Amino acid sequence: MIQSLKGFRDILPGDVEVWQHMEMTARDLFEDFGFKEIRPPVMEKTELFKRSIGEETDIVGKEMYTFKSRGGKSITLRPEATASVVRSYIQHKMYAVEPVRKLYTIGPMFRSENPQQGRYRQFYQINAEVFGIASPLIDAQLIFMLMTFFSRLQVKDIGAHINSLGCKKCRPEFHKALSVLLSKVGDSLCDDCNKRSLKNPLRTLDCKVTSCRNALAEAPAIVDFLCEECTEHFDAVKRFLDRQGISFEVDKQLVRGLDYYTRTTFEIQTGLLGAQNAVAGGGRYDGLVKALGGPEQPAIGFAVGCDRLIEIMTLDKKAYMKNPSVFVAALGTQSMDMAYGWVCELNNIGIPTEMDYSGRSLKSQMKRADRMNAAYVLIVGEEEIKKGEAVLRDMNTKEQALIPLNSIVDNLQKALKIRNTKHETRNNIK
Ligand code: ATP
Ligand code: MG
Repeated sequence: MIQSLKGFRDILPGDVEVWQHMEMTARDLFEDFGFKEIRPPVMEKTELFKRSIGEETDIVGKEMYTFKSRGGKSITLRPEATASVVRSYIQHKMYAVEPVRKLYTIGPMFRSENPQQGRYRQFYQINAEVFGIASPLIDAQLIFMLMTFFSRLQVKDIGAHINSLGCKKCRPEFHKALSVLLSKVGDSLCDDCNKRSLKNPLRTLDCKVTSCRNALAEAPAIVDFLCEECTEHFDAVKRFLDRQGISFEVDKQLVRGLDYYTRTTFEIQTGLLGAQNAVAGGGRYDGLVKALGGPEQPAIGFAVGCDRLIEIMTLDKKAYMKNPSVFVAALGTQSMDMAYGWVCELNNIGIPTEMDYSGRSLKSQMKRADRMNAAYVLIVGEEEIKKGEAVLRDMNTKEQALIPLNSIVDNLQKALKIRNTKHETRNNIK
């Protein structure tokens, strides 16, 4: 038997309905906030990720699925979406007509990581990116939208962590201070961090190795080095969040794994998933559009890790299962012929209807209807055809009614409506 690759999994019916609900919730909410969907390809030139994410990151250094195309070019399965969205923004000159763009995309990402709970090699993200707005209002609004998204999905035990990474102007001073510490504690750092110390010291703060964490526990905080503009920007974000009642924690060690972040950076963490505690991450990347060949345009975005989000949604998953409304139990060839027509017509008018295609006994068809959780079974056999009436059985109450075979689809629709209202009334009285 051929099995799926390690770290790659199937999302099966029974689970997929919750995924659909999560995606619909995101679409509804994001579109109300003015976001438009964009669907970039899942493969790009390797260079795009190297340039945007940075050579010294774990993603580019260790985690990318990179291949040679048949023509010998280096191509990569996208490890994240921002780079592609930025490329698209530049390639299609979206900045020219209306530089302010709010875009979202939903889809798979690929990273060759060690698979474990909450960490897959193909995983899914919902990304939102905003171009052309420098104001801290949008930073706060994005975090507000993200927290609203989580609350609509009834996610518990999450908290927003925010930090500022400064800008080109103030970060060098911070680098200097951090480098002083790094040169002192070099012996306690992992090999990666020793390399990072030279090439990209900020990233050492992101290291998960315990000895590095301990050695850097007293590291200087970027927020203490912010220039005036960056301080004002960060203060404004905090003020807006406060005003909207969004609680957050300023996490001075929070740096993102990617090179292009500036100023506001944030992560939504949960206490429910052990080490894989980040369910979303994002921040400003004011330098990236220019770095990839576009004009100077500020930008900010976030990525939600869907696989982890699904784990912490507390919704009743059963409520999202789509069961047939009607199961047509047809006995004998003539009934099956008729049933086939009804099923197609009912499906077509939005009443999920199933039938048994093999003409088994009534008992086994009823069993199947039960297994499928059908709300009603419409029984039709020789007897019913003779009488000109089919039997409609309510699988919940076990009540039965007769439905004339003439214009059965209309009659069935009416019967279902009456019964549904009856149910509702009954439920209300309860
Ligand atoms: P982590 O620190 O957990 O490795 P990251 O910093 O690499 O996360 P980002 O690049 O910020 O993650 O991606 C955004 C989100 O995507 C993460 O917060 C997480 O929820 C999710 N994510 C990242 N990598 C994986 C993975 N391999 N499997 C499942 N979800 C992932
Ligand atoms: Mg990672």
